[in-house]
Amino acid sequence: MLRLNIFKTYQLNGATDRDSFKSKIPMVTYEDLQPEIQRIANGDKSPILSSRPISEFLTSSGTSAGERKLMPTIEEEMDRRQLLYSLLMPVMNLYVPGLDKGKGLYFYFIKAEAKTPGGLVARPVLTSYYKSKQFKTRPYDPYNVITSPNETILCVDSFQSMYSQMLCGLIMREEVLRVGAVFASGLLRAIRFLQLNWKELANDIATGSLNHKVTSPSIRECMAKILKPNQELAEFITNECSDENWEGIITRLWPNTKYLDVIVTGSMAQYIPTLDYYSGGLPKPCTMYASSECYFGLNLRPMSKPSEVSYTIMPNMGYFEFLPHDPSAPAFSRESPPRLLDLADLEAGKEYELVITTYSGLNRYRVGDILLVTGFYNKAPQFRFVRRKNVLLSIESDKTDESELQKAIENASLLLREFSTSVVEYTSYADTKIIPGHYVIYWELLVKDPANSPTGEVLNRCCLAMEESLNSVYRQSRVADNSIGPLEIRVVKNGTFEELMDYAISRGASINQYKVPRCVSFTPIMELLDCRVVSKHFSPSAPHWTPERRS
Ligand code: AMP
Repeated sequence: MLRLNIFKTYQLNGATDRDSFKSKIPMVTYEDLQPEIQRIANGDKSPILSSRPISEFLTSSGTSAGERKLMPTIEEEMDRRQLLYSLLMPVMNLYVPGLDKGKGLYFYFIKAEAKTPGGLVARPVLTSYYKSKQFKTRPYDPYNVITSPNETILCVDSFQSMYSQMLCGLIMREEVLRVGAVFASGLLRAIRFLQLNWKELANDIATGSLNHKVTSPSIRECMAKILKPNQELAEFITNECSDENWEGIITRLWPNTKYLDVIVTGSMAQYIPTLDYYSGGLPKPCTMYASSECYFGLNLRPMSKPSEVSYTIMPNMGYFEFLPHDPSAPAFSRESPPRLLDLADLEAGKEYELVITTYSGLNRYRVGDILLVTGFYNKAPQFRFVRRKNVLLSIESDKTDESELQKAIENASLLLREFSTSVVEYTSYADTKIIPGHYVIYWELLVKDPANSPTGEVLNRCCLAMEESLNSVYRQSRVADNSIGPLEIRVVKNGTFEELMDYAISRGASINQYKVPRCVSFTPIMELLDCRVVSKHFSPSAPHWTPERRS
């Protein structure tokens, strides 16, 4: 796996053994690699990271300086990913019989692509996968039949894509055995879409003609073969969807659904109660754990409860090393690098940060995920996904860290200057009670001149100013996907944050070490804050976003 430039830079003198690798190659972050990645993006085709040609960049939902990270990848990597996908159904089949007797209703989407200055495509890993020959020309497999034709998935307009996929799902409702999306947030977006569009969908089914809002010729062509007038089905959908109560809607519309295929681990756990509400508590197997950098592994006991999900890393996906995660340990330096452990050396009950070496040329790269070893499958450790390092707020694939939130607050508070007002304290909350979820920021203000305090309109603009300074993944979700709602600022009464501290201290926090939590989710704290809200403000419009990168 070692690549040409690495041999030179770290003076490996031709050595390819594990000890030389471990002693000479340093652990890196994305920022360390950025100069090399930029060279590749600018068109340098020499073997900088990998001896194989870089075929494209995968844009990770992790960001650096506000932009999506660019992960180089090579042609053969697609087959490796396909290998992991091909194992999912055989595992599922051990637990759920008869999955070859029907279809999966999956909501899959592609996103806009960009080109780097050197001409390489940059797009999300799933967009790359859905557009690949491995996906588009997959051989027939009775266990992997889905209701969405390729044309409906391969449309970059998210409304047309969702509309036609939902329509197919409704038409084939009795054949559907599993309902899914990649992440839980995606499936809930589909349910919200249905709430907003069921009348038009039912009308299409009644008349057998496709809504004129779907303009893509290829979708129209393939839907013409599927959509036939069906008055009875249209009435059934109207009956179910016009009922105010949407509890169990998934099993009402798709009565043969055996499970929901969505990831509900990590930040997606916040959606479990809503999924249970809409599905009457159907099982939610989390089948795989993967990233743009590398696919990692799969869940060998997919029917376990979400809180007990463990993933088994597949050693053939890359070379995996583990940094013991101990927040209280002294920081390491180049002179005293940390010791990275191999899969075989891990201990149950301990947390580790994942470090990967990939076939595409990332060497000892820190992914940023913290994993807990829960046990072993034969000798292979199994991992619970604990969290992503430094992520404060997340609604779907967006990841906002503390420094980004701080910067956004600073930018927004510039608008308060002319009112001699400043933000003295703040905290945040990812509100996912309604779909799409949105960021809520609690502000305590110091208004020096009450006769000239900021108006509601100014505070609305502060919401937009915050959104403008959040990263591109956030802005894309707001603008292109509508999967995040307008940011909200809730101004709280003066003294609220002191009360918050009193509350924390009453629960055992140390006065000396108390820090305002920059993100809250604990119900009593939410209640305390919400009881003291004096005004609420929302972004009046969407922030700026285009598929092109800013830098
Ligand atoms: P991306 O960079 O957009 O490819 O996102 C990859 C990241 O998503 C991983 O590093 C994890 O933080 C998160 N992720 C992927 N799969 C899972 C999973 N099954 N459970 C929890 N988090 C996941």
